[in-house]
Amino acid sequence: MENPIKDNIEKRIETMNQRLDETYKQDLYFYNQPVEELRGGSRVLVNGREMGMYASYSYLGLVGHPKINQAAQKAIEKYGTGTHGVRSLAGSLKLHQELEETIAAFKHTEAAITFTSGYVTNLTVISTLVGRGDYIISDKLNHASIVDGCLMSGAKFLRFPHNDMEALEQRLQQVPDGNAKLVIADAVFSMDGDLINFPKVVELCKKYHAWLMIDEAHSLGVLGEKGTGIEEHFNMPNSIDIKMGTLSKTIPSVGGYIAGNQDLINYLRHVSRAYIFSAALPPAQAGAAKAAFEVILEEPWRIQKLKANSEQFIQGLRARGFDTMLTQTAIVPVLCGSDEAAFQMTRESQHHDVFVLPVVSPAVPPGLSRLRATVTAAHEPEEIEQAMDVIQNAGWKIGILK
Ligand SMILES: *Cc1c(COP(=O)(O)O)cnc(C)c1O
Repeated sequence: MENPIKDNIEKRIETMNQRLDETYKQDLYFYNQPVEELRGGSRVLVNGREMGMYASYSYLGLVGHPKINQAAQKAIEKYGTGTHGVRSLAGSLKLHQELEETIAAFKHTEAAITFTSGYVTNLTVISTLVGRGDYIISDKLNHASIVDGCLMSGAKFLRFPHNDMEALEQRLQQVPDGNAKLVIADAVFSMDGDLINFPKVVELCKKYHAWLMIDEAHSLGVLGEKGTGIEEHFNMPNSIDIKMGTLSKTIPSVGGYIAGNQDLINYLRHVSRAYIFSAALPPAQAGAAKAAFEVILEEPWRIQKLKANSEQFIQGLRARGFDTMLTQTAIVPVLCGSDEAAFQMTRESQHHDVFVLPVVSPAVPPGLSRLRATVTAAHEPEEIEQAMDVIQNAGWKIGILK
């Protein structure tokens, strides 16, 4: 018999489904649309229509790169499709070792370790390194996987307003003498495209003897002449203790990594639960990831082109009257205001074959809903110009532009 009184689980499910029904009815739902085909680096087939892709994190346009595809195929021929187990037991392949050596060389560290996703990397590494009695100090706009790792760790979790270095220093002073401190931040913030004040964070960590962990999900392949990340960008080598990144964005694979000194990596390899209790990265993905790091070094023009394209996109949208917030990278927020306005902008853009997606609350604060548009090295300047015209027309129609 059905219980007439709804419990909280039922209520939550119902509330979300009501919200979804509303957006379906108004033709304002654009999430989870399957891509049917990749067409070159910058175009996709969605719902039978070819669209320019402005929502991809494949910043260097490496998805579908022949050398990377070939490496994945070779790995399958050699090792098959799965690893039938965890790394510590029978799951480790020579290929995993080669991948980790490649990452360590790319990041200029002694060693590296890989996990099966970036999300799981943050969860397991943060909760392995700190626990009760320790302190984590985290930027308020850090990625959800960092927040979840911090909560899971049981350490004291202190946050500071986004990029507020005075607040960071106050938090560091707040920690009692003798307790371990871990400062964590994204290098490039995933919703806003701006950079952490890296020189100041490094200085404060040194001053207060705190460990520093930086998530380079959106800076790998993006920052620095060689694309190696935020240390290269600021010309500050060896500044980060725990260098985290994903293999799912610029690197067209899946997985996450930590690069650091040999002792740290040994420790994680023998203590972190996602490494010990979850199956290894599949061969094709490990092979693809390794080849992608090589391609970044072999084809530095991609980084130059990404920078030029990002500049064109940011300046062009600003000139057309949009607020692109504080972005300095290929992640370009186009501020819309209300959730509704962001959904309508998405609909107008997609109806004119520009594939962009909205980010709404609670992922961003209410009133700051936006399109979160991205460009990659695969776009041509003319395409970007056309896409910006489409977004401008949408802005006029919705009333964001006057
Ligand atoms: C995407 C992302 C992750 C998670 O990486 P996955 O490999 O997709 O699990 C972690 N941190 C940041 C900042 C991200 O943007």
